[in-house]
Amino acid sequence: MVKDMFRCVECNQSAAELHRDYSNGILKITICESCHKPVDKYIEYDPVIILIDALLCKTQAFRHILFNTNLNIQWKLCVFCLLCEAYLRWSALHGSEQSSDPADIIRYTKEWDFYGMFAQAALELWAFCGGVLGFLWVALVWGCDDGGSGVELRLLLRGLLLSCYGKVLLIPAVIWEHDFSPLCLGLVKMFVLTSNSQAIRVILNCSRRLALAAVCLGLLSETCAAQACSGLQSRVRLLWTLY
Ligand SMILES: [Zn+2]
Repeated sequence: MVKDMFRCVECNQSAAELHRDYSNGILKITICESCHKPVDKYIEYDPVIILIDALLCKTQAFRHILFNTNLNIQWKLCVFCLLCEAYLRWSALHGSEQSSDPADIIRYTKEWDFYGMFAQAALELWAFCGGVLGFLWVALVWGCDDGGSGVELRLLLRGLLLSCYGKVLLIPAVIWEHDFSPLCLGLVKMFVLTSNSQAIRVILNCSRRLALAAVCLGLLSETCAAQACSGLQSRVRLLWTLY
């Protein structure tokens, strides 16, 4: 067994196991040597309770998901959220041509613009992740914050992608088409950024200030990528109309 592969959800202390099996069917939750509380109380909890605590951005729930589980749905979640985002952008672009036919959602996927929007949303997401990881790497390597013991880029990327789960709130906007407002989308964005910041804080055990600074830099990087994409699109359209 790999030693100290888990973390205490209360105090972030490393732990070798979450529970001990006494072979006669008796399982006992491991108690943390540092804080004397159960290492991971969530192993007994229903997934719905864990989800609610994660929605409330509780540090303990984030530690449980990121350190004590093998949840590897980040890539599927990422593609699903990008599809929702691409659809919303596409429908905003062709808003005047919408019809109420449910079969339209199939037709939309045949549109090249849809794939363009998907690529743009993916590029912006990578710009965000690149900005955050780049900033954290520089900040931790140069020792601006003594919270992080090392830059774990793979774990950070997993944490960033998983903490984007708030984007599934875009689903109602996709289902009810135009019954969404920029305010709702702004609130979803705010929630996702808060979750991203909490994931960084939990993984690196760093200060809230450093996590917020990383998210702000990621957002700046994402905005720059979005502006560059818009500029490129308008130039392509101009060239298309000229020739
Ligand atoms: Zn502890």
